[in-house]
Amino acid sequence: MSKSRNSLSPNSARGIDTAKKVPLAPGRSLMDWIRNAPKRSPRRSSISEDELAQHNTEQDCWLAVRDIVYDVTAYVAYHPGGRDQIMRGAGIDATELFNEYHPWVNVENMLKTCVVGRLSMTKKFKMPLAPVLQTLSVNGGIVSTSAPLEKPFFDWMQDDNYVYLFVTINQEMLLRKEYVTIIHSNDTNEIKVYVYIKSHCFFLGFKLSGQIISVNFDIENNKNIKISLEKKEKSAWKKIGAALSDNKSFTKVQALPKLKFPTYLEEKTQLTHDSFLFTFRHAKNAILRVPIGRHVHILLPNNQSLIRPYTPVPKAVTSRSKNDGTQTTLLIKVYQDGMFTSKLSEVKIGDKILMSIPEGAFDLQKVQDAVSITLFAAGTGITPMLGIIQHCLIEQFLEIRKLRLIFFNKTENDMMLKEDLEKLAVKFPNNFKITHVLSASSSSWNGKTGRISENLVREIVPQIVVENDDLADDEKLLCACGPKPFTDLTVQILKRLNVSESCIYPFSG
Ligand code: NAP
Repeated sequence: MSKSRNSLSPNSARGIDTAKKVPLAPGRSLMDWIRNAPKRSPRRSSISEDELAQHNTEQDCWLAVRDIVYDVTAYVAYHPGGRDQIMRGAGIDATELFNEYHPWVNVENMLKTCVVGRLSMTKKFKMPLAPVLQTLSVNGGIVSTSAPLEKPFFDWMQDDNYVYLFVTINQEMLLRKEYVTIIHSNDTNEIKVYVYIKSHCFFLGFKLSGQIISVNFDIENNKNIKISLEKKEKSAWKKIGAALSDNKSFTKVQALPKLKFPTYLEEKTQLTHDSFLFTFRHAKNAILRVPIGRHVHILLPNNQSLIRPYTPVPKAVTSRSKNDGTQTTLLIKVYQDGMFTSKLSEVKIGDKILMSIPEGAFDLQKVQDAVSITLFAAGTGITPMLGIIQHCLIEQFLEIRKLRLIFFNKTENDMMLKEDLEKLAVKFPNNFKITHVLSASSSSWNGKTGRISENLVREIVPQIVVENDDLADDEKLLCACGPKPFTDLTVQILKRLNVSESCIYPFSG
């Protein structure tokens, strides 16, 4: 590899670093802004484009980035690109401008005290259609709007110590760490990289030219994934290796080959009389996190026909979860007469279990677009809801959302993660509410009882009944997960209450 290639900065080479800076007056640095930023004011759930447009002067300047409206009047003087540049976004949805000049800036954090509220969905700007156009239809549930999907770009380079693989995403999306799975096998010296882009996955696969010691990756500028392979020996590789079949393919997640890789049971924590958190440590050089609402399958190595899907529990919901890329924590109920879990419960710490790469097609955009989210969970059906709860409460502006969890269990002793969930409800009292419903409660239970029914839904969440609801369909999301008959019944009940099918997402494994 030539010297000039080694010094290539993938960002500047691709013209990403286009932001221009102007000299700022004294006292107008980023640190000054952090010190002087205004205090937070109450946030609103819906601001129309017409209202946004009225705040378009330097003395009264609002702009929207990624669906959030900010009052940047106080920030204008601190903008490193100067007043004129920021005023180009005054009174409008400035997402395109923002992405053009500094997509890597953490605007949500920098302007967190300036949030006015959420831009109304009614007249949102539409992205231009790109070459690959896909419609995602999931389990008869949500059919997401046609999203333009572009195949990522791949490049590589090396220095003495590392081989770097670069994947550049050309997609309007927040590139989260869990969208990248990397599995390197020491036995075969094959590396497999999966980059999840909405309904699709970009795959890279090579039998490497040389041995490696470690694998790591970073995300830069919300666009570039830089994968660093640490070489065992300091020598130049003539090529990266032999391409595996399907290398550089870009397919629907459902069409991915079902790769299984070894993990080892590291920890088992009891939650209730029959449910446990199982933490599996991945094999060395396997990095895997599961996108929100998606799952992995696990298999018993001595009986690979026994396979079950599970959704990881996010760390933000319970500190007992260890999901960090090198370990995966799953909530599993052990059924004494169950074919799979009775055998799984006999697995000892350190024993091998096979795990799949992430599967499923849940589109996080639906959560990000929704103002009102209602989650109907029964038993371990709580697990896919936890990622949604974590995303809304911890990562996004919950203040502009209403999140309701209706959690069905048999008895008080079956309520998994009750204290963890309640801590969140106490922390976010105006926006996160939980109702527990028990089907076989003790006489001392004074909460709701029974199974899901139309009356119960009307009573607990009257606001979702269409007559009481003034939200547009794409501002609402209603998810159901539990035993299949529960999930099917919930969907039927919601439809009977005239909830549009496009707002309902049934998780069905
Ligand atoms: P469970 O304890 O047996 O049941 C939880 C609650 O659901 C109980 O109150 C139960 O009422 C109620 N329920 C069960 N069947 C019902 C029905 N037909 N109509 C109305 N209510 C009903 O649940 P579990 O053993 O934890 O099982 C959870 C299920 O969720 C598993 O089947 C699992 O595969 C599934 N799951 C799916 C996904 C996914 O698709 N992504 C993820 C996680 C879990 P009763 O006491 O009256 O039966």
